Amino acid sequence: MKTAPAARPHATHEVLNQVPPLAGYDVADDPALLEAAGREGADWDAGRLHELGRLAGAADTQEHARLANEHPPVLRTHDSRGNRIDEVEFHPSWHVLLGTAVGYGLHAAPWADTRPGAHVARAAAFYVWSQAEAGHGCPVSMTYAVLPALRHAPDLAQQFEPLLTAAAYDPGLRPPAGKAGLLAGMAMTEKQGGSDVRAGTTRAEPVPGDTGGAHLITGHKWFCSAPMSDLFLVLAQAPGGLTCFLLPRVLPDGSRNAMRLQRLKDKLGNRSNASAEVEFDGALAWPVGAAGRGVPTIIEMVSATRLDCVLGSAAGMRRGVVAAAHYTAHRQAFGKDLIAWPLMGSVLADLSLESEAATTLAIRLAGAADRAARGDAAEAALLRVALPAAKHWVCKRAPLHAAEALECLGGNGYVEESGMPRLYRDSPLNSIWEGSGNVTALDLLRALRRQPATADALAAELALAAGADGRLDKAIGQLRAGLAGLGAAGPDAEYAARRLAGQITLALQAALLVRHAPAAVADAFCASRLGAGEGAAPGGPGVPFGTLPDGTAVGEILDRARLVPR
Ligand SMILES: Cc1cc2nc3c(=O)[nH]c(=O)nc-3n(C[C@H](O)[C@H](O)[C@H](O)COP(=O)(O)OP(=O)(O)OC[C@H]3O[C@@H](n4cnc5c(N)ncnc54)[C@H](O)[C@@H]3O)c2cc1C
Repeated sequence: MKTAPAARPHATHEVLNQVPPLAGYDVADDPALLEAAGREGADWDAGRLHELGRLAGAADTQEHARLANEHPPVLRTHDSRGNRIDEVEFHPSWHVLLGTAVGYGLHAAPWADTRPGAHVARAAAFYVWSQAEAGHGCPVSMTYAVLPALRHAPDLAQQFEPLLTAAAYDPGLRPPAGKAGLLAGMAMTEKQGGSDVRAGTTRAEPVPGDTGGAHLITGHKWFCSAPMSDLFLVLAQAPGGLTCFLLPRVLPDGSRNAMRLQRLKDKLGNRSNASAEVEFDGALAWPVGAAGRGVPTIIEMVSATRLDCVLGSAAGMRRGVVAAAHYTAHRQAFGKDLIAWPLMGSVLADLSLESEAATTLAIRLAGAADRAARGDAAEAALLRVALPAAKHWVCKRAPLHAAEALECLGGNGYVEESGMPRLYRDSPLNSIWEGSGNVTALDLLRALRRQPATADALAAELALAAGADGRLDKAIGQLRAGLAGLGAAGPDAEYAARRLAGQITLALQAALLVRHAPAAVADAFCASRLGAGEGAAPGGPGVPFGTLPDGTAVGEILDRARLVPR
């Protein structure tokens, strides 16, 4: 009797020229990040950053990230007996990711840490851990950002701050006071408007006879992410005008507050995270900040989350270029490693320049936030102008960057298993959150018009790089002329908003690179982004990646970013 031939994995061919998984590496092995974090005062956290970096690059973590996205959250409106429960069920991998983030203090921990640089250390760690999975960063960021706003209600802050800053992930709906740690969200956007929050129709009515300021909230919110959080900042129309309130999911007596989850959004990206449509049917809440001052109060939360949008976009870029470099270093075409072909090298170097500039600026902004939180007015003024500019520009560059990084993997980059489609789908979101492109750019104009100290702080920051590079000097001169011509409000001034956001960001990035990065990086950035001088890329940064001028030190740029296997 004939025996069957031994089973072979593939009957027709050997599997050749496929790339090993990018796993088991230290995500924090990122010179631009480490140097920037050191400059901004967080050297003391380098050991922990590498520990988190190794965790972020581990195969197990990557598997959790995949599972959390392939098994998105499910809404459970009722229990088996028909009682309303309004809970969201997550895959266990979501809890692992979020639990790690909270355990490393990426949420509100730095607000309880008096060490200078605590916010920078947290920003660097957030950047590193976001490269593992971006979706769970949403509740992490919102919890980080809630503190400055919550402090407008000292009694509530005293009660909840220790739990919001505790490095304990304690999921599940229970009375906040009895939990080991809390997460917070925000609910501003309504069906009829998200940018124009003053058009909100949700009402707040004082509870008759209550001396503690309790109000009943009635209305809806159209996007309310991380709805399993313990506390929410909510905007509502109170008798004294639009006011910010703190609304707990569970009341002190253990009953569920009247916050109903209507459905979850079926989203482009950010699929591991739940974003709900909610209704408040007389939900109990307590004011945060003065009546009628809802927008200025919640803006403090918005501003802190904007920093995370920049960090998150920079993290996505780094993840993209590392994946692209890894792939091209292990895949051959036409007899050579892809990375060794000049044009692929140029694409990777260009992606790397964008990534290094984004990282360097994001961590500089985290340094400004750290010092502003400790009372430094000049850094607060710089942040007021640099943050909306960077939020606009860096977050808008991210999808272009992700698309190009994905293409370095050829067809494999288009396939889910590579992780690149998730990176691409997640990439536009930071630009929409916390003020979409136009709104953020208009906010930049508002800052420049109303607070002259912001332009002074920007000028002082750029002056630190004066004389170091002629192209940068010229760009700063053009920016100065643009700012001087801002004039009164009107269509022309508004048209300038996006342009200015780009000019300011590029000038800040170039100034930082000229001062701190290797000459090859700074020179190539100025040559390709500032659009002046011999051999400049046609059209500057608006053109696709991979158009670096002749003579660019591609090898040095890739080495610098540790993108070539050693
Ligand atoms: C995944 C996801 C999660 C979210 N989670 C939350 C959450 O947890 N809490 C929350 O409150 N919100 C959340 N949002 C909502 C988000 O903040 C809003 O979508 C955003 O602020 C824009 O509001 P809108 O969708 O109503 O758009 P609109 O306000 O209708 O704006 C539409 C477009 O017009 C532009 N625009 C608006 N005004 C002007 C103007 N004056 N001049 C020029 N252009 C203008 C905007 O930039 C935008 O591009 C989430 C959104 C998404 C996608």
